[in-house]
Amino acid sequence: MFWDPDYETIDRSELERIQLERLQQTVRRVATRVPFYKQKLAEAGVTPDDIRSLNDLRRLPFTTNADLRDNYPNGLLAVDLDNVVRLHTSSGTTGKPKAIFFSAGDINRAADLIARCFIMTGVRKGDVFQNMMTYGLFTGALVMHYGAEKVGCLVIPAGPGNSERQLLLMRDFRTTVIHLTPSYALYFAGFLGKNGVDPKRDLALRRAFVGAEPHTEETRRKIQESLGIEVYNSYGLSEMNGPGVAFECIHKTGMHLWEDHYLMEIVDPQTGEPLPEGATGELVLTTLTREAMPLLRYRTRDVTSVIPGKCPCGRTHRRINRITGRTDDMLIVRGVNIYPQQIERVLMSMPSLGHNYLITLSGLDEMTVKVELAETAFDGSVEHLVQLQNQIVEKLRAEILVKPKVELVQSGTLPVSEGKAKRVVDQRVL
Ligand code: AMP
Ligand code: ZN
Repeated sequence: MFWDPDYETIDRSELERIQLERLQQTVRRVATRVPFYKQKLAEAGVTPDDIRSLNDLRRLPFTTNADLRDNYPNGLLAVDLDNVVRLHTSSGTTGKPKAIFFSAGDINRAADLIARCFIMTGVRKGDVFQNMMTYGLFTGALVMHYGAEKVGCLVIPAGPGNSERQLLLMRDFRTTVIHLTPSYALYFAGFLGKNGVDPKRDLALRRAFVGAEPHTEETRRKIQESLGIEVYNSYGLSEMNGPGVAFECIHKTGMHLWEDHYLMEIVDPQTGEPLPEGATGELVLTTLTREAMPLLRYRTRDVTSVIPGKCPCGRTHRRINRITGRTDDMLIVRGVNIYPQQIERVLMSMPSLGHNYLITLSGLDEMTVKVELAETAFDGSVEHLVQLQNQIVEKLRAEILVKPKVELVQSGTLPVSEGKAKRVVDQRVL
């Protein structure tokens, strides 16, 4: 089943024709309406007429996170302010936020892409969608909300946190689909266990959409098993309208990236040079249909690769692999490059371990991994604990080539954040 079969299964050559047409329009619009791009294009020596094929994309300048901040608040707007109907921001950790503007058409198109994602994973009118993401300036909840309404779901705008209330809503309104961060999904699964709720017996849940933060296949498996549902990976970023950029279909073999709305490249994060298909690098996205705030070659800093070949679902939009992290997530510990996802993969594959972990870097270059035990793991014997601890240390050392300290803590004792999980605390004196 498709939401928009003509576009979802479009012939690649026809898709490329549309992409080129939309790219040309986008470049023309920003060249005339956005002084920042006018100047950038002039510096790069490119005019809109130079874009004659999709290969000319690489002649265009990149847009970075810093460009968005420098042009805060209105510098990247391509329409008059009275044609903007919604403002979102993406805050990051420091400094000014990034302002993201939507025209009415932008909202409608973003919701349409979410509708594709919902239908693609089997959600239908009549499903009950409990949205457990943060409502507010963050795009994650509202954009999904609009898409779910388009499909005809009953939408429960629950927001995150307050697990008792989530459970009450879920029970009383027979929620079938939830949308939440993977870290909250893990926590919530633990919460149900502690409260004696068996989701298969007591709830009507069938599916979860998880996104907004990097997570591993092992984490997905853990959520699926503990909630007894299908879990689909949902990728997006505020700069590209939020969720609905790429999403898994029922085959769960990578996320279809909607290429009629976003042009993708994978580049070498150091040099910015495009990499061959299948290679892992930084995802760069160009908006093709955005009115209020088109962006050229936006450096997402998300690391992934394109999966070659066709998907059995029949969609022709290429798939990207699970995001393994961000180019700026990488930790350097004692000279070794480590991605937090490597640690997560090890921890989440061990049945004796629970749902939450925290990596702390301290002193000169000490790494401590705190991890919660599974509810059922601890038989009370110290010997058992020490054995488990040593086993984790060894597994981690084999994966990341650095020997961390491991601390086992009781389930439910590590901090849980309402928004994106904070997995690394760096207190090093460098
Ligand atoms: P925001 O702009 O606040 O929505 O954050 C977007 C960022 O969240 C992306 O650039 C990614 O780094 C991360 N993100 C979103 N969805 C996923 C996902 N499914 N897997 C991994 N990272 C994700
Ligand atoms: Zn597919």
